[in-house]
Amino acid sequence: MKRTPRHQAPADADDRKAVQPVICYPVESLPPADMDTYAAARRSMEFGDAVVVPPRSARTFRVPAGNFFRIISVDGPQVGDLNLWAADDLSERFYSGKTRALHGTHLSTGDRMWSSFPHMRPMATITCDTLDWYGFDAFGAGVHDVIGTRCDPYTSRLLSGRDYHQCCHSNLIRALAAETGLPLDQAEAHVHDVLNVFMCTGFTHDTHQYFMKASPVRPGDFLEFFAEIDLLGALSACPGGNCAAEHSSDRAACYPLKVEIWQPDPKRLAGWVPPAPSAYSRSHGG
Ligand SMILES: [Zn+2]
Repeated sequence: MKRTPRHQAPADADDRKAVQPVICYPVESLPPADMDTYAAARRSMEFGDAVVVPPRSARTFRVPAGNFFRIISVDGPQVGDLNLWAADDLSERFYSGKTRALHGTHLSTGDRMWSSFPHMRPMATITCDTLDWYGFDAFGAGVHDVIGTRCDPYTSRLLSGRDYHQCCHSNLIRALAAETGLPLDQAEAHVHDVLNVFMCTGFTHDTHQYFMKASPVRPGDFLEFFAEIDLLGALSACPGGNCAAEHSSDRAACYPLKVEIWQPDPKRLAGWVPPAPSAYSRSHGG
């Protein structure tokens, strides 16, 4: 929200505003993803398994390190909310905020999904994005954001006064509880900020507010990842459908999403090893 300033600007305000920005984390300073090896591996890959996520619901899936997985649009335009955990340790999970700081507000081919502290390593690398043609539009919107968090019943209650149970947050909780046997309240603690797959979002130019618009996704479009470590994933088919108008209701047209697991020829991954957790000592100067 743009508010009327209450404080007098200093005499050199224009000079202060004219200072050139500096990229916080130049991508070149990150350990490079070996895209050539991934390209060779994906040419050899064979279909392994598939999970269909029903509309306004979520499902889990497991991907061994060294395999690929695809999130695919089927039947109609649909946005998906993705959570990732290390398969054997729910405390290592996707860190949306750090991924945003490293790669920007929207992800595409070559970008990586980083895990939480103290692990902080690539969990998955994006190897194909059929929506990479979209780039950024005149409104500043792009596809596959790490700026939204996930639709949830708490914000819905705050804004509408109603309880709605098919929000992505609740869908992910139910799916994780079913997968792990955890009670819902314990599963909830593991659900985290998402990668908004296929969602088209940005910040308005004037007030810098978060906005969404109809996803450009068409049936057959997919986002493909290489699993850097053994993964447990959960994907929610958002009740907002293509998120053209609203979520947290049953009004939008919703469609399923499909997750496919693909296995490459291991010989094509010669030289690749799963990334190790951060080598930081964790002494914190203490
Ligand atoms: Zn949602």
